Amino acid sequence: MKRGKTIFIVCHCLLNSNAKVYPLADTKGVYTDDLASLLQNGVGLVQLPCPETCYLGMNRWGMTKEQYDHKAYRDFCKMLLTPTMLQITAFAKEGYSISGVAGMDGSPNCGINTTCIGYCGGAICANNEKDLTKDFKTVAGRGLFIEIFAELLRAEGIAPSFISLHHETTTLSDQTGDKIDEI
Ligand code: SF4
Repeated sequence: MKRGKTIFIVCHCLLNSNAKVYPLADTKGVYTDDLASLLQNGVGLVQLPCPETCYLGMNRWGMTKEQYDHKAYRDFCKMLLTPTMLQITAFAKEGYSISGVAGMDGSPNCGINTTCIGYCGGAICANNEKDLTKDFKTVAGRGLFIEIFAELLRAEGIAPSFISLHHETTTLSDQTGDKIDEI
């Protein structure tokens, strides 16, 4: 039997950068460099769903943690995590190691060490500011989806380590390979 019985949970876009808000994908598909050491160590990967794509689709724009933080979205995240929790608790019950959760720093939802706050507005915003990034701040703390996931794991007595394998790029000049004119 070759199975390693070690499970690592990764946020959706680490295995599929296509889920990211335009134009934040900075690799074509899988973040292979960031995941290489996990793969070499023989862990099995469980991919979380992307809450933003499921809730708002691919034509969403970037928002902050505070903008997502309302009851309907929290309830949606809990519902979305139900199949994942069924998988994880099944593995844990049989003695598999749930060794870690990897997110995407800077994300309002999947940040581990950093997330983003502030009111960014949209096409129409409350104070008619032209600079929509004016109130945007990257701060220490977890994203909302990861916070909710951690609470669900804690309720089941599962305590993996939380690590960030990648930091979300936030400026257009950081982008490589994505079509900025698709915004
Ligand atoms: S960071 Fe999370 S919410 Fe954002 S695209 Fe990746 S999986 Fe989706």
